Amino acid sequence: MALKTGEEYIESIRQLDLKIYLFGERVENPTEHPILRPSLNAVKATYDLAQDPEFRDLATAESPYTGGRVNRFSHIHESTADLVNKVRMQRTLGQKTASCFQRCVGMDALNSVFSTTFDMDQANGSSYHAKFLDYLRYIQSNDLIVDGAMTDPKGDRSLPPHKQADPDMFVHVVERREDGIVVRGAKAHQTGASNSHEMIVMPTQTMTEADRDYAVTFAVPMDAEGIFMIVGRQSCDTRKTEGSPMDTGNPDFGGMEALIVFDDVFVPNDRIFMDGETEFSGLLVERFAGYHRQSYACKTGVADVLIGATALAADYNGVPKASHIKDKIVEMVHLNETIWASALACSYEGTATPSGNYMVDLLLANVNKQNVTRFPYEIVRLATDVAGGLMVTAP
Ligand SMILES: Cc1cc2nc3c(=O)[nH]c(=O)nc-3n(C[C@H](O)[C@H](O)[C@H](O)COP(=O)(O)OP(=O)(O)OC[C@H]3O[C@@H](n4cnc5c(N)ncnc54)[C@H](O)[C@@H]3O)c2cc1C
Repeated sequence: MALKTGEEYIESIRQLDLKIYLFGERVENPTEHPILRPSLNAVKATYDLAQDPEFRDLATAESPYTGGRVNRFSHIHESTADLVNKVRMQRTLGQKTASCFQRCVGMDALNSVFSTTFDMDQANGSSYHAKFLDYLRYIQSNDLIVDGAMTDPKGDRSLPPHKQADPDMFVHVVERREDGIVVRGAKAHQTGASNSHEMIVMPTQTMTEADRDYAVTFAVPMDAEGIFMIVGRQSCDTRKTEGSPMDTGNPDFGGMEALIVFDDVFVPNDRIFMDGETEFSGLLVERFAGYHRQSYACKTGVADVLIGATALAADYNGVPKASHIKDKIVEMVHLNETIWASALACSYEGTATPSGNYMVDLLLANVNKQNVTRFPYEIVRLATDVAGGLMVTAP
């Protein structure tokens, strides 16, 4: 079943034994929880898009690893055309959900671990890449969601992992066994954690030899023993529990992030993709971050919705022809298309890695990230200006 329907996806998440905590209590039925369900719907949109004949080429791709069609979110980029299709798909999904649809981190993890395991094997004669390809086939042929887990809590930022007062500030190996490793620690801010089947865990920064136990990359099922998720709050989230159709913002869709705790989690050998190769930790971080900076193309789709809503508010107020209103909407479009230009540029300027998959242009991907950390704020300021006080004080 290489392409799941949206309903099959939700059913597959329902089957997992996820240990999710919200407001200090375990969530018994996460797929139906009013705060989590909108975020599940947003991930479901990535399955619905792949089923829609209009978006088939954008949302799916031919995989040389399974020999069939797979969701683009689990595809390994084979060309600059793939990189461009990735950002086009992200903008489209931003327009359809007006929120974070959470599946990009997994795509970015798959592509960065793909090329880095290849480079490690070339340098050291290890056999990580073949193991990773088996895992990739599993993800692609079952159309699974993968959480890309890089960011550790980190503690005192001026100290490396092994010098932290609390050794669990970074995920690390606490036991090496014949059949695998046992890991402990946490990953913070994990996008889509409660809506994922699997998780790829990667080091968060360049490591030195003294941090060998922290230079670890592996995959685990999201409901593996010892994994706990503590959901982060979203602004105004309890409005979604009030049962009213009014005043809930974007009621059908939303994002979610969680702190994931690894309480002595066992990882079998066939799911370990780096263990102690500190010299490759920085490269993996650079590649994941590069892909993820490209992924912020999604925000242009979200802003498309906001720009449309702003124009509608101007219509309601009877001022759509006022020149300063038109100037402000043009400015919103200009800022949004400037983000889009950098997302496209880093994709078109991508190049092949030694493994054969395609990497974005890192400098231009960084420009995209810089744009996205600035322009959305100005776009929202202009939306607030055009809409008037009702946006804040609606009864
Ligand atoms: C909505 C959201 C979703 C996210 N989703 C994911 C996800 O799915 N997967 C994932 O892995 N991560 C995710 N992240 C995490 C994100 O990648 C991190 O927040 C980001 O990398 C910054 O790390 P930090 O939060 O630890 O901040 P820090 O790195 O601590 O930065 C805070 C400040 O301290 C400064 N600083 C830090 N270290 C030093 C130092 N040594 N010297 C001097 N200055 C320093 C920084 O420059 C910055 O100004 C998400 C974050 C958000 C907000």
